[in-house]
Amino acid sequence: MLDAVIIGGGHNGLTCAAYLAMAGLKVVVLERRDVVGGAAVTEEFHPGFRNSVAAYTVSLLNPKVIADLQLAAHGLRIVERRIANFLPLDDAHYLKVGGGRTCEEVAKFSARDAKRLDAYQARLEAVADVLRALAMETPPNVVEGHPFAAIAELVKSGRIANRLRHLGLDLQRELLDLFTSSAGDYLDSWFESAPIKAAYGFDGVVGNYASPYAPGSAYVLLHHCFGEVNGKKGVWGHATGGMGAITQAMAKAAAAHGADIRVSTPVREVIVEKGRVTGVVTEKGEAIRARVVISNLNPKLLYLRLFDRAALPPSFTERIEKWRCGSGTFRMNVALSELPDFTCLPGRDLAEHHTAGIIMAPSLAYMEQAYFDARTHGWSKQPIVEMVISSTLDDTLAPPGQHVASLFCQHVAPELPDGSWDDHREAVGDLMIATVGRYAPNFERSVIGRQIFSPLDLERTFGLVGGDIFHGALDLGQMFSARPVLGHADYRGPIPGLYMCGSGTHPGGGVTGLPGHNAAREVLNDFRKRRV
Ligand SMILES: Cc1cc2nc3c(=O)[nH]c(=O)nc-3n(C[C@H](O)[C@H](O)[C@H](O)COP(=O)(O)OP(=O)(O)OC[C@H]3O[C@@H](n4cnc5c(N)ncnc54)[C@H](O)[C@@H]3O)c2cc1C
Repeated sequence: MLDAVIIGGGHNGLTCAAYLAMAGLKVVVLERRDVVGGAAVTEEFHPGFRNSVAAYTVSLLNPKVIADLQLAAHGLRIVERRIANFLPLDDAHYLKVGGGRTCEEVAKFSARDAKRLDAYQARLEAVADVLRALAMETPPNVVEGHPFAAIAELVKSGRIANRLRHLGLDLQRELLDLFTSSAGDYLDSWFESAPIKAAYGFDGVVGNYASPYAPGSAYVLLHHCFGEVNGKKGVWGHATGGMGAITQAMAKAAAAHGADIRVSTPVREVIVEKGRVTGVVTEKGEAIRARVVISNLNPKLLYLRLFDRAALPPSFTERIEKWRCGSGTFRMNVALSELPDFTCLPGRDLAEHHTAGIIMAPSLAYMEQAYFDARTHGWSKQPIVEMVISSTLDDTLAPPGQHVASLFCQHVAPELPDGSWDDHREAVGDLMIATVGRYAPNFERSVIGRQIFSPLDLERTFGLVGGDIFHGALDLGQMFSARPVLGHADYRGPIPGLYMCGSGTHPGGGVTGLPGHNAAREVLNDFRKRRV
């Protein structure tokens, strides 16, 4: 008999599989698509041009996961961007961030802001350090029943409180701001000039379909800061060979320890017998039984599509129905005959700004308007676009002299007020390309191939409900002990034998490997204590 069957071969399912297999468990992973990796894959989207077609940049991937799974030995290399961000602002002005020059760049707009940068970074980093540690822990769970269980959770809460105490009162206040306030208010309290607020504030709207002035968006900003690349905190980089190189390395790590990974094997149903989860049935009708079933899926996908409702507690199902999904993401991959030539910083030869995350959203006010427009009309005529030209850091992706780029566009309505994304996909794709063209006039004619994922396409292709890149909004009611539902933050589902390891669990979305890592720890605990 198998020990564990994992539904979904996203990076968290693979991470979980690898840890369980390393501990000697017999594991099978069942993946719906013909490739593992979920949202972290590299695919050919135009003849001769490959790209990380969904997730495209790496920072949050946890160093412990990289080390434990020996991802470097399995082929993973991560390279850093030459500068972090480039913001073309208009025909004459731009801001560069990173590469040791942020201070002089910000001083072009405000000497006061330039002086405050170090203090801002130091504060954010101190808080991010705490978050980094918390991200690897199972949140305290709200439990009913036996008092011993409640005591164990209290001890866990005490440990966390102790960790926070070490921050000191001043940083605890900062932490409270970051958890409750808006990215806009937080940044306004630090800086006066628009460009640096836009550069930092972009992280507050990534995957967060909300105004940058919506309470809670400061946390999303922080969520994007707890990563590191090659030991450098807060840095974003690129996996050579694309994001698929990460998940291929994870799959190799799991397989090397005996995990059986089956692609093109969608699961149709979870089997519940005598009040226990005992296995799954695939689309082809094969029943696969195991001592535990672990889901890598968005909670809505798992509980509302793969379960007989009668098997689940009604109050639990009601909660899952209310689970908020829809990150407002529109994603394009483009094949380019040449590099963009920005009016504010001319040149088609490869330069450091081409290797950056190029943010086309010059102010927080612009981002807020994009959100308001999307709420009313479905999208904004002035959308938020981040472009990363991955081939500038990785020559394995495009033919020599040509390039591939990711356009990561924020703030489109997950569901359109009028019509379907099937009717509007191409027009909005044209708009995103024209938006880049406003800053780099050669861009439109340089596009020789394109692939579009509207929110509907993200759901159809990757199983991301409402196109939600995080498997559920990262807002206060859906975080930490409440992710995915109060009482089930410990990776255990509402029926014995069922576990969750996807981004719908703590610490949420992003290519971190942490939900998979933490879930594996809980599963192994239960095996050790003979609870399964
Ligand atoms: C467009 C986009 C851009 C992003 N950019 C970044 C980025 O640059 N950096 C970053 O860190 N994060 C990024 N993210 C977020 C990050 O990619 C995701 O949060 C993360 O990859 C989710 O991983 P996961 O393993 O939890 O789930 P998933 O990757 O969603 O994996 C779930 C898997 O389950 C499979 N599945 C679904 N239903 C079934 C079924 N019935 N049977 C079997 N298998 C099934 C799916 O096919 C999928 O492979 C981005 C996401 C998107 C969509």
